Amino acid sequence: MNKVSIVPCPDYNDAAVSSALDAVLRPLGGLDWVKSGMTVVIKANLVTFMKPEKAATTHPSLLCALTHRLIERGARVIVGDSPGGLYNAAYVSKVYSTCGLHAVEDCGGELNHDFGQKDANFPDARAARHFTYTSYLDSADAIINFCKLKSHGMMGLSCAVKNMFGVVPGTMKPEYHYRYPDHAVFADMIVDLNEYFRDKVVLNICDAIVGMEGNGPTAGEPRQIGALIASRSPYHLDLVAAELIGMKKENVPTLESAYLRTLAPATAKEVDIIGDAAALCVPDFKKILTHSSLEFKNFIGGSAGAAIGGMIGKLLRSRPKVKCDECIGCGVCESICPAKAIKIQNKLAIIDKKACIRCFCCQEFCPKGAMKVHRTAVARLLVKDSKK
Ligand code: SF4
Ligand code: SF4
Repeated sequence: MNKVSIVPCPDYNDAAVSSALDAVLRPLGGLDWVKSGMTVVIKANLVTFMKPEKAATTHPSLLCALTHRLIERGARVIVGDSPGGLYNAAYVSKVYSTCGLHAVEDCGGELNHDFGQKDANFPDARAARHFTYTSYLDSADAIINFCKLKSHGMMGLSCAVKNMFGVVPGTMKPEYHYRYPDHAVFADMIVDLNEYFRDKVVLNICDAIVGMEGNGPTAGEPRQIGALIASRSPYHLDLVAAELIGMKKENVPTLESAYLRTLAPATAKEVDIIGDAAALCVPDFKKILTHSSLEFKNFIGGSAGAAIGGMIGKLLRSRPKVKCDECIGCGVCESICPAKAIKIQNKLAIIDKKACIRCFCCQEFCPKGAMKVHRTAVARLLVKDSKK
C-alpha cells in the first residue's frame, strides 16, 4: 500500500515517457484496477498558465501517456485542476491551452469543463471540517493525483500532498490562506483534503523529470532530476521526493503533519522503495526552507521559554520581498493578497509587513517572478545551505 516506486526518465520524449510510466507502475500492480466503463479523473498540477518547458505544471506528454493507457482499458478519462485565479471556462481554458493540455484531447481524453463547486463536511478533520471542492471530482470512480516536483515558498515542497490543494476552487484559495494563516495548520488542512479523498485517489504519480527549483512554485528555474515516482500513498511519495532533493520532513510542514498523524514515517529510510532512489538524488537542488523548518523549540519550558521561542521565531520567519527592478506594478499581487497587505504605489508593489500573513500567494502568482522569499539575516546565518 505504501510502497514507493521510482525509475529514471531522462526527458519528455514519447518513447522514454511511455516506458518509464510502465516501469514505475509495474511494482504497484500497474493499472490492473482499471475496469471498462470506469471514469478516471487525472488531477494534474495546472497551477497557472505556463508553458510545459517552464516546469511549473505536469507535463502533457506524461498526461497523454497515462490517458492512452487508461483508454486502452476502456476507461473514460477526464483531466482537470483548479488553478490559482478564476475558476470558470474562460480562465481555465486559457490555462489548458498554455499548458499544452489539448494534446490530451488528441489522444481521446477530455479536459474538465464542469466548473461547479460543492461543500464538504469532514468531522474527522484536524483543520478543514468544512470546505469547498471542485465538483467534477464527484464524477470520478477513481482519481489519479499527477503532481510536479517543485520548491514552494510557503510549504517548502510542492508534490503529491500539496497538489490536493487544487481541489479547492481557485477563487477561494486566498480565503483558505486567510482562514489558516499558521503554516502548521495550513499543512493540516491540506492533509485533511488528502484524507477526505483518500479512498478515491488510488494512485499518486510525480513528474520529477524536470522539476522546479529556487523561487517555486511558479517563478523558479527548471531543474533536471530525471525521475518518475509513484505510490498509493501521497505521504510516502513526498517523503521520498523530498529526500531526493535534499529535504527532510522538518522542512515540509505537510510531512510533519502526516508524521504526527501516523500517516507517514519520519524518514524515507523507513519507506519500502522500489528502484534506485540514491542514484537519482539532486542534493544541490535550490530549496526554500520554510518558517516551520527554522522554528525554535521551547527548550527552556514554561511561558518564559514560549515567549523567548516566539521572539526568536519572529527573527527567523521568511517573508515576501519585492525585487524593485523586476516589479512592473501590474497589481496581480495586490488583487490576490488575502490579507490586503499589498498596495501599488508609483508602479511598485509595497507590502505592509504587519498585515502580511506570509502565505506567499503573491510570490506564487507574480507574473514577473519579482516577488521573492526573503530569509532574514539571522535565518541565513543559522542555515546556510538554502536560497536567500
Ligand atoms: S505581481 Fe509582481 S510584478 Fe506585479 S505588482 Fe506584484 S510584485 Fe510587481
Ligand atoms: S503580502 Fe504576499 S505573503 Fe503577505 S499576505 Fe499578501 S499575498 Fe500573502
